[in-house]
Amino acid sequence: MIGVFRHHGPAAAIARAGLIAVQHRGEECAGLWVADGQGRTRIAGAGRVVDVLSRPALAELRGSLAVGHVRYSTAGARSADRAQPIEHHVRGGSFSIAHNGNLIGCAALARSGGIRDDPDRTDSELVAILLAKALSRPVRRSGGHPGRVAAGADAAATSSTIAAAGAQVVALQRPAPLERALMATLPRLIGSFSFVLSDGVRLFGARDPKGLRPLCLGRLPDGWVLASETPALTAMGARFVREVQPGELVIIDEAGVRSEAPFPPGTVESRLCLFEYVYFSRPDGVLNGRRIDEARSAAGAALADFAPLGPDSQLPARPGVVVPIPSSAVNAARGYATRSGLPYAEALRRNTSVGRSFLSPTPAERAQKVVDKLVPIPELVSGRRVVVIDDSLVRGTTARAVVDMLRRAGAAEVHLRIASPPWRWPCHFGIDAGDVSELAAGRSAMSEVVAELGCDSLGYLPLDRLAAAVGGTADNYCTGCMTGAYPLPVPTAAPRRTTDLYLSVPPHRRWHAIPLSLRAKGVCA
Ligand code: 5GP
Ligand code: MG
Repeated sequence: MIGVFRHHGPAAAIARAGLIAVQHRGEECAGLWVADGQGRTRIAGAGRVVDVLSRPALAELRGSLAVGHVRYSTAGARSADRAQPIEHHVRGGSFSIAHNGNLIGCAALARSGGIRDDPDRTDSELVAILLAKALSRPVRRSGGHPGRVAAGADAAATSSTIAAAGAQVVALQRPAPLERALMATLPRLIGSFSFVLSDGVRLFGARDPKGLRPLCLGRLPDGWVLASETPALTAMGARFVREVQPGELVIIDEAGVRSEAPFPPGTVESRLCLFEYVYFSRPDGVLNGRRIDEARSAAGAALADFAPLGPDSQLPARPGVVVPIPSSAVNAARGYATRSGLPYAEALRRNTSVGRSFLSPTPAERAQKVVDKLVPIPELVSGRRVVVIDDSLVRGTTARAVVDMLRRAGAAEVHLRIASPPWRWPCHFGIDAGDVSELAAGRSAMSEVVAELGCDSLGYLPLDRLAAAVGGTADNYCTGCMTGAYPLPVPTAAPRRTTDLYLSVPPHRRWHAIPLSLRAKGVCA
């Protein structure tokens, strides 16, 4: 997600550069809404930023305010009409909203707002409708500003102007009616949300009270930007100012940046998604003051301590090598190699012309995509005991295919190390891992996972060591997918099988020594 506010000058090209920088956060749809004093233009559709927002298309987007979005969803929901930002028309104008996250309890929320339930409507569209409803309500003088939190360096001290008591809000040119609508609506939402919005005059950014999804603020020479990740600030020519705080609403206008606190203070507590560090964020970004690549490399070093490559069962000992599954495990693998003293080799080449494997609909298609995407380099693995590192193991598709391709390329042994704990529970807050019953560690005991993957040993990183690598302790983060303990009440999930964190198959029962006919039965330690 991206937001741009410039005092003068066009915003579209800057926003597009920012969107390209956060493309990894969603490849299904892209969209940009640009406004100036006279009008608003929106271009959005299915596909990647460079395709949806081609250079000729960009020329149509005139204005110094922009809201942009890239969409990540399940395979089934891929459709152009789900693209964001959403533009919602209200009497006298329109506003745009981009959402990163996932709301829970939408049916109840719609009912409480007197809105008809519609299974086809997204949670983001519901928020737009709730905001529009709040905008159409008469303004009362109290205005409902429960508090104020520390504002940025350039913050202006002005408070929003509230329309006279009893006045009907008829147009968006009134001072900050969208701010008032946000103050009334945001506290009603449950779930994860970072929002970027605009009414055509101001730019707004908001984070849920747990700060589950990131959002940061940057300074342009002649304005301000908002972005999901810090590398997008650099891409937009902005300098990092600070992160938007959990439970904060920032309002950017000609006067500068102000900040409001729409949520009751007791509900605000930082619980950023830990998976942002594991997989989701770009390695060159900074979150909560911690560089992502450094956190990943520290996680890899901790993994080397916790689950080292055991001694070889053969003499003379065969050489070992640490290999990352590209590209999200590169930093962790480097950390593992440095700590263990083993050599590091990028022995899996990534074919970038193949799309994402994670969201393909069937297991066979996902496995085929991994095989198409990754090519082993036999010279780097042949005769070696390969320690292959991935950032996470979700369904096990990637690891299974990689173990197999490394063996075919001549690896003597394949030891799989995962730089995060087993993923056993559903994510309710925006990471879509498909059906919970598909989760490798959720559905099977460790010995079964090892048997399914066909590796010689498997080691995960314990949660406390991951949290220490990232900075802080596990209760500073949302770890729901790893622990089943969520920072918000969620629809109850069935308890999952517990899983150990380390298992080595005894040499005499190693996978490659087992006849094919027995493999299917999962003969393993
Ligand atoms: P698996 O193949 O076990 O189902 O998923 C794990 C692999 O997918 C890892 O290589 C990890 O980098 C990647 N991954 C983990 N979470 C996500 C996600 O939310 N989206 C996508 N596209 N990939 C993911
Ligand atoms: Mg991966």
